[in-house]
Amino acid sequence: MQKTIIKNAHVISPDFELEGATIVIEKNRIKSVSKRESSPRPGDTVVDVKGQYVMPGFIDVHTHGALTFDFCDSDPQAIFEIAKGKLEEGVTTFLPTTLTVSHGELLAAAANLKAYAEAGMPYAKTPGIHLEGPFINVKCCGAQNPEFVRKPDVKELKEIAKVFPVKQISYAVETEGGAKFAKDCLKLGVVPSCGHTGAKLADLMPAYKNGLRHMTHFCNQMTPLHHREIGMVGAGFLIEDLNTEVICDRIHLCDDMLRLIFTRRNLAHVQMITDSLRCSHCKDGYAFTMGGLEVKLENGEARLVKGGNLAGSTLWMGNGLKNVHDVTGIPLKDLVRTTSWNQAIEQGWGDDLGKVEKGYVADLVVINKKSWKPVAVFIDGEKKI
Ligand SMILES: [Zn+2]
Repeated sequence: MQKTIIKNAHVISPDFELEGATIVIEKNRIKSVSKRESSPRPGDTVVDVKGQYVMPGFIDVHTHGALTFDFCDSDPQAIFEIAKGKLEEGVTTFLPTTLTVSHGELLAAAANLKAYAEAGMPYAKTPGIHLEGPFINVKCCGAQNPEFVRKPDVKELKEIAKVFPVKQISYAVETEGGAKFAKDCLKLGVVPSCGHTGAKLADLMPAYKNGLRHMTHFCNQMTPLHHREIGMVGAGFLIEDLNTEVICDRIHLCDDMLRLIFTRRNLAHVQMITDSLRCSHCKDGYAFTMGGLEVKLENGEARLVKGGNLAGSTLWMGNGLKNVHDVTGIPLKDLVRTTSWNQAIEQGWGDDLGKVEKGYVADLVVINKKSWKPVAVFIDGEKKI
């Protein structure tokens, strides 16, 4: 059987680091990771990565777009371009994320994603959608358009999931029916997540009791920690098993907050995300509208023209990892679970994705140690970049 052999790898995997490693891939899975050299047979592919990092392919559960395209564009080409952009970032699996838009636009986005799946997902893989909204708190919209905010409605969720699977939904737990909605989501195989929320701790607990274990971009667009009402930020620190998404661009959260999160929370329950917009991979000055609101990219920051709220990021996952490593000094082998494996576990793929270990799917990213840019990306054992 033909093999792919990656040699001279500096493997970084959850709780495991090995320099000078050889990774042998057979079919789509990792057959071995060791110091032993593997002699190729005719037909085998050998890739010398020259001592660069080899990590599990990144899993981004929250990203809206790239290369001027947004997942909510009524344009079938958009998801192809976004998936191409994500692949360049070293993301091997992602959940394209919608905005708070009309039901018709959400159905159209799902249909476009279905067409990408039917085309064999030529770039990064995407098993389903992350709906960010429309069931959010109108007072915590951030850059989401308040005009399209509505109450949790499981019927609407089911209609979208009929077109293409929904894997996650960010909604405000304090809205009418918010606690029961968590249970409904889990029954449908959708991860319910508390986000764009004005909830107090007491508002969260009924949804938590119903199984909600996820927080959308922790700290951003949620109630802050106050000493008489600890809000959602306090909840994230008090409740260990809440899986908190974190945007690690050093803009959405200051360095001290990143330090606080990554040194005080259990790293098994932290997930790096990009929350990247269509302006990722674009230059300063690029302007666009998002859910009907005007946004401009300046100094790498995407902000609403009116009011100046942050609209999302231009972050790449690898840079987020580097940022947190620089700020906290936490070893990469401890941090790397937050870029892939934690996400995989929560989504039910923990035995297949997120590790550079025997038996795991060969979704891998090779990162240049100096530039932190991905120099090669493998999906299902196939070198895509
Ligand atoms: Zn978002």
